[in-house]
Amino acid sequence: KNIQIAIDGPAGAGKSTIAKIAAEALGYTYIDTGAMYRALTLKALKENINLEDAESVTNLLGMTDITLKPSENGQLVFLDGQDVSQEIRSNEVTSNVSKVAAHAAMREIMVQRQQEMAKLGGVVMDGRDIGTAVLTEAELKLYMSATVEERARRRFEDNKQRGIVSTIEQLQEEIALRDKLDSEREASPLVQAQDAIFLDTTELSIQQAADAILKLVSE
Ligand code: C5P
Repeated sequence: KNIQIAIDGPAGAGKSTIAKIAAEALGYTYIDTGAMYRALTLKALKENINLEDAESVTNLLGMTDITLKPSENGQLVFLDGQDVSQEIRSNEVTSNVSKVAAHAAMREIMVQRQQEMAKLGGVVMDGRDIGTAVLTEAELKLYMSATVEERARRRFEDNKQRGIVSTIEQLQEEIALRDKLDSEREASPLVQAQDAIFLDTTELSIQQAADAILKLVSE
């Protein structure tokens, strides 16, 4: 069967790593919507756009092509034809993305593009508003979380692999602030969809969490 799986949750809950593995096992397309907001943020920073200005940010997205391409190690992100898969993970993008993501009119365009992408067939899509705004009819919705300490620890390991220098304290602060901005914004705030299943990944390995999803799909 080809279904839509929507995964939401706060930063560093393991959504993308777990979603990627589940998608691979199912032969589905994995779509990381956070990468799209990150790509737009990167462009806005490069072009010195005022990130707080809804109109500028919305217009910018209208002139921007963001393409996600499946690859061996997950997904490549192209911004106007350029591979920015690494650049969008920088500290600068990470600490500014929630400001950009707050604008309602810009989000409407993003959501439309994401809904188009989901027409591909079986998809696992992760983000903050997938179950509540993008794929409201998804057959399976998950809300993934973990303690902020554990999420910071995972980000730390992740960053180390990517060669990004950070401290756990700094990451914990950044994650807590991003969660606050993402859940308190007016436009599609981060919230668990009523029909989503809550999955606490604090004590789960990546494989255990992916297996939990596969089990739910087979039920
Ligand atoms: O998932 P990731 O941490 O890469 O997302 C980066 C940021 O993009 C989030 O903190 C949030 O501000 C924004 N985002 C969003 N809606 C989504 C996905 C991400 O607002 N569906």
